[in-house]
Amino acid sequence: MENKRLYSPTHIKNTLDKYGFRFSKSLGQNFLIDGNIVRKIVEEAGINKETLVLEIGPGIGTLTEELAINAKKVVTVELDKKLLPILDETLQGYNNVEIINGDILDIDINRVIEEKLSGGPIKVVANLPYYVTTPIIGKLLEENLNIETINVMVQKEVAERMIAQPGSKSYGSLSVFVNFYSDAQIVVKVPNTVFMPKPKVDSAVIKLELKKNLPDIDREKFFKVVKAGFSKRRKTIINSLSSYGFDIEKDIIREALEESSIDPGVRAENISVEEFMKLSTVLPPLNI
Ligand code: SAM
Repeated sequence: MENKRLYSPTHIKNTLDKYGFRFSKSLGQNFLIDGNIVRKIVEEAGINKETLVLEIGPGIGTLTEELAINAKKVVTVELDKKLLPILDETLQGYNNVEIINGDILDIDINRVIEEKLSGGPIKVVANLPYYVTTPIIGKLLEENLNIETINVMVQKEVAERMIAQPGSKSYGSLSVFVNFYSDAQIVVKVPNTVFMPKPKVDSAVIKLELKKNLPDIDREKFFKVVKAGFSKRRKTIINSLSSYGFDIEKDIIREALEESSIDPGVRAENISVEEFMKLSTVLPPLNI
């Protein structure tokens, strides 16, 4: 019964026409129109009738519907008020879906999990608005939330940066950040033809499995050192760190690098997460 489902392009077009809806580029609105991809996203997330799901940006409810069919409960957060009457219609047959109108970056997600998703653990599944991918992932990883996995569609190039390993061109502070909090992999590569309107870039679904026991280190200091390390990608690590403005003498930085078994002459792109962690614990307190 393909055309009864929301992902049918004709159904989506008719729904949008009926409500006079116009896509907002600035809200990253590229809706899925391909049933296979929608099913694949839900399948890869390992959703079953016990699963509690948080979705970000339901659009007209295409992915939400597939989640609702497979999960126990879905809470979905949509920023665009114009989509609310549409979602009321498209999801009216599903009593396990709750829609919240708001900005995912402002919402107290912990409270949503406590009050609407039985305290979790939850899975996050979304076709993310690309203009805010990094802050959303940042918030989901940093806030110590009861999240098991995050399966989200992102721009392919961002997915590659998230999963990159030391020595690869895409490896950078985002890779270190994501790798610190989770085990990350690309689970589906997605062409731009499965969206309406078609974005300029290709996409990929990444799966982040959140690590349960994070190393007991000063995270603020760690991420500052990583940021400083990658601030001048072409420079050696010793030069990047000593020109960053930490106000630590170059010799002290050299000693800290050596104590962390890092060759001062390498570039940040060759330094592993573990080495950056060690370095951040060995360096003296940072003044910025
Ligand atoms: N899930 C739908 C689909 O796959 O067809 C729509 C995905 S579309 C890429 C992103 C959705 O996120 C849009 O509905 C957009 O309005 C919504 N959105 C954008 N910024 C948001 C934010 N800060 N918080 C919550 N939703 C947001």
